[in-house]
Amino acid sequence: MSERQVVTRIAPSPTGSMHIGTARTALFNWLYARRTGGKYLLRIEDTDRERSTDAAVKVILDGLTWLGLEPDETPVFQFARADRHREVALDLLSRGSAYRDYMTPDELAEERERARAEGRVVRSPWRDHDGPVDPGRPHVIRLRAPQEGETRIDDQVKGEVVFRNVDLDDLILLRTDGTPTYNLAVVVDDHDMGVTHVIRGDDHLNNAARQTHIYQAMGWDTPVWAHLPMIHGPDGKKLSKRHGAQAVSEFDDMGYLPEALRNYLAKLGWGHGDDEIFSDAQASSWFDIRDVVGAPARLDWDKLNHLNNHYIRLADPARLADLVEKVLASRDWPVHDGDREILLRTLPLVREGARTVLDLADAAVFALKRRPLDLPEKARGLLTEETQGRLGRLATRLAGAEWTVPSLEAEIRAFAEAEGVGIGKFGPALRAVLSGGSPAPDLAGALVSIGQAESLARIQDALPN
Ligand code: GLU
Repeated sequence: MSERQVVTRIAPSPTGSMHIGTARTALFNWLYARRTGGKYLLRIEDTDRERSTDAAVKVILDGLTWLGLEPDETPVFQFARADRHREVALDLLSRGSAYRDYMTPDELAEERERARAEGRVVRSPWRDHDGPVDPGRPHVIRLRAPQEGETRIDDQVKGEVVFRNVDLDDLILLRTDGTPTYNLAVVVDDHDMGVTHVIRGDDHLNNAARQTHIYQAMGWDTPVWAHLPMIHGPDGKKLSKRHGAQAVSEFDDMGYLPEALRNYLAKLGWGHGDDEIFSDAQASSWFDIRDVVGAPARLDWDKLNHLNNHYIRLADPARLADLVEKVLASRDWPVHDGDREILLRTLPLVREGARTVLDLADAAVFALKRRPLDLPEKARGLLTEETQGRLGRLATRLAGAEWTVPSLEAEIRAFAEAEGVGIGKFGPALRAVLSGGSPAPDLAGALVSIGQAESLARIQDALPN
């Protein structure tokens, strides 16, 4: 390989959402650039003017920001470069590597029919036309692609892939209205951006052969190709709505942390031995595009949940509090003064089992409730006269307690002993009174989360007045 600095890129089309496959493509491009000390660029392929809105572009930029995969330079917008694409098409024309094709739509339709019947690709009679032409007559510009021999794609993931040139038609470079086609634009942009490695989804593998012909016609170096397999659903079928999520924003909404998704996506089709959990720094020091496997990867929710739980347990509580506040706001949960402090106390005590930020919010609401708590039937059933008496004595004792998990654990144990009963005799009732029937951690954890004054008041509320 040449000594050139590695330049990778992602080239998403702004279509309204950012697919998880695009996120993985971005990650692999980013990792490869980090690994090689290269650059990782973004090109927005906004040539479809109907679908490309500012909002759709923002979805991609926001998605990359959220994932922590922002490009190293300001993004390139493909549509803005249309003049340059046209210039290259005209250059190819003047080199004899392209030709004007005057087939009318009807003629093209007939040729398509014939080609299908004869089992060959479309061929234009204008390829070999030798004589005057009328540039004012509607026409397209096609590449004069080789028709003999083979085009070899030495793909870093798929291995060597061979295309017979006879199977590839002369691709259109400029349409009748003078707009450049996708394959032309991609090649010109990748060349002008100095892209050395094209790492993208394998739905573009066929384009690699056609694009190679444009590189060759222009006398440009072809990039190194690496076509990544698709991400499938857990059932091995193409990822779709029924698998739960496809868009990056949906993973955010479902409460996944970007670092968990990065770790997970890195493992989808690539890996480092048996390592399940690794940091960005580790991944970027290990990553090699040649180690990516060619078979489709399957989304595995259990693995993703496991990783997300790992990163939730590591996360800064203030950051988790921000995320949980967002979830609660989306549920119209009422906000009160002091909630932030409660969350900061509660989240570290309840995050152990949380698979997502939504789980975390569910696990924290007991502490955020406001009195008087609405006790479910079952909880009220636990409040016998005897138990109420016991909770009253416990409250008196707790009024003087040090409000930390270890000392409250010790207080509760000592109280049970003094009463001559097991904790089972009053624990469930205490828990219900503290949580109002919502999920809550163990007793000491619940007391610390709720805070002393509020805990004692919740107990008082459950006693006869
Ligand atoms: N714009 C294309 C897509 O979104 C990607 C083209 C490429 O990476 O070369 O599928």
